[in-house]
Amino acid sequence: MKKTFLAVAMVAALAAGTTGCKSQQTQEEFNYKVERFADVEVLRYKVPGFENLTPKQKALVYYLTEAALYGRDILTDQNGRYNLAIRSTLEAIYQNYQGDKNSADYKGFEKYLKQVWFANGIHHHYSTDKFKPEFSQEFFTAEVKKLDASKLPLAEGQTVDAFLAELTPVIFDPTVMAKRVNQTDGEDLIVTSANNYYEGVTQAEVEAFYAAMKNPNDTTPISYGLNSRLVKKDGKIQEEVYKIGGRYSAAIEKIVENLKKAQEFAENDAQKAHIGKLIEYYTTGNLKTFDEYSILWAEDVVSSVDFINGFIESYGDPLGYRGAWESIVNFKNEEASHRTEVISANAKWFEENSPTDPRFKKEDVKGVSAKVITAAILAGDAYPATPIGINLPNANWIRAAHGSKSVTIENITEAYDQASHGSGFNEEFVIDKETSDLMDKYLFQVDNMHTDLHECLGHGSGKLLPGVHDDALKEHGSTLEETRADLFALYYLADQKLIDLGLLDNKDAYKAEYYKYLLNGLMTQLVRIEPGKNIEESHMRNRQLICKWVLEKGAPEKVVELVKKDGKTFVKINDYEKLRTLFGQLLAEVQRIKSEGDYAAGKKLVEDYAVKVDQDLHKEVLKRNAGLNIAPYKGFVNPVYTAKFDKSGNIVDVTVDYTEGYAEQMLRYSKDYSPLTK
Ligand code: ZN
Repeated sequence: MKKTFLAVAMVAALAAGTTGCKSQQTQEEFNYKVERFADVEVLRYKVPGFENLTPKQKALVYYLTEAALYGRDILTDQNGRYNLAIRSTLEAIYQNYQGDKNSADYKGFEKYLKQVWFANGIHHHYSTDKFKPEFSQEFFTAEVKKLDASKLPLAEGQTVDAFLAELTPVIFDPTVMAKRVNQTDGEDLIVTSANNYYEGVTQAEVEAFYAAMKNPNDTTPISYGLNSRLVKKDGKIQEEVYKIGGRYSAAIEKIVENLKKAQEFAENDAQKAHIGKLIEYYTTGNLKTFDEYSILWAEDVVSSVDFINGFIESYGDPLGYRGAWESIVNFKNEEASHRTEVISANAKWFEENSPTDPRFKKEDVKGVSAKVITAAILAGDAYPATPIGINLPNANWIRAAHGSKSVTIENITEAYDQASHGSGFNEEFVIDKETSDLMDKYLFQVDNMHTDLHECLGHGSGKLLPGVHDDALKEHGSTLEETRADLFALYYLADQKLIDLGLLDNKDAYKAEYYKYLLNGLMTQLVRIEPGKNIEESHMRNRQLICKWVLEKGAPEKVVELVKKDGKTFVKINDYEKLRTLFGQLLAEVQRIKSEGDYAAGKKLVEDYAVKVDQDLHKEVLKRNAGLNIAPYKGFVNPVYTAKFDKSGNIVDVTVDYTEGYAEQMLRYSKDYSPLTK
């Protein structure tokens, strides 16, 4: 629940060349753009400072990146039970194709494979809708039949015809496994979702299974269902646990093998201890051990190199139990971390002065550690599409008692910024030159600040009343949690405190973020939605919820308006100060809903403001955006790390290279890091 993604408007609004607080470093020639297909642009990112790490730190990073890359297949399989077989088959066709590469079928096929790589499966990474292949079933069948059967992922004793009969509808029939995560109210969310987290069970059975396990008086509950698949076998509902000797064992063994090597290069005993705990958790599958690991990890705030590796975020499960596998390896950006350290050091002030009811405030805001990091590798659910901020661990009781770690991944935001120049976005969507100039000047700075406030303070603020369970808001929990964190950030962006702390130097800078936020939430984020569809993804729901709410509540005083100019719709903010007050009011209400576990009120907010799309406005936004040639989604290829070993097999140096292409990287990962498809 604690990831921040880059808002679509920001990428482009930065186009006119902002001078952010850390853009002094000169940009040598570096090609950030890799390639463009479908609705996606693939970029690459730099890892500045890697060369300054000690040899020991480089070795640590190296083995952690190896541990990261070995988990790729886990996520692909979690996203859908046929994903690995489909990926292998498509790659075999791609690598053995002899026909005309300019044919419509081949072009459609290549696009589809690139989409499958990007989404780690056959469903769009963001909308979770199944991709529509732009090549014929006949083309696919013919190409599969040309392949040597040894190149196909056939099951024991399976014929090629039987294999095709199984896979073809999954790829080509739009009604089969149509959506990875279905959130449609009133439907059985488990039965109708195509992810691979459940088999043979209904939503009611899943809810009953965990209700029976949970003890309402348990103040330190484990994250039920986080590391398993729930299946009905022989009439009995049971968890297939992800662990060594359990589900995904072959991949987890390779992860653990590399974690053990990494442990030898740990920077200190605290880090050695949490790597050890993570190994124990992967070995036993015990979720109590995962909590022990999470505590050790959260409390290690001194190590420079850090990482996450495990089953973490639960967006992929409509009921929010199961964690998608992911890994990010990183090291601290000391200079930029100063900003977030100042915010964290003042966490208590922010909590005390927030507009929420005192009953819902945390008495003792502690351990909100925050830093700016440089990502060294992205993997699993964080690759190729990646968050720009992370705040973990997710368990509320651990966050309350032991604190949490919050990070902004600045080499990723830097890459977005650098790649976005000259798109024409501001000219098309921003209402006037004055606002556009303000955004040029301050948006990069205040957008980073928004992320910092959201991650360092927003998610960590407030408390649940006694007896209210973590998942009381059920399917709306993620949306409302993001709403709360965003409102906390928006409210404080306009506060004099940030100027007093030396974090901002202009009292109007926040207006750049306010304008961008409303433009995005009311209009431009709709470029990610297909015509006729409603909003499903929780971050998008959160943004629209906030924006439509302030638009409606501020209407009598015209705080914010949608106005027409030359037949085009524009967001017009008439009263920035009043807008801030509205953000504060909604923050107080959303905090109340969260603290009291008021499911009915939360559901109503989401249904009234977050889901429905204005069809005419949507059409207009799509049309205007189409003229700009901006990809709605972006993702990254990783750098390539090469280790040099001495004669006795000890690592002596690690070098980093940025030249690998997209297909090249995907095929290499499938060849070298694919223990589940062998
Ligand atoms: Zn968040």
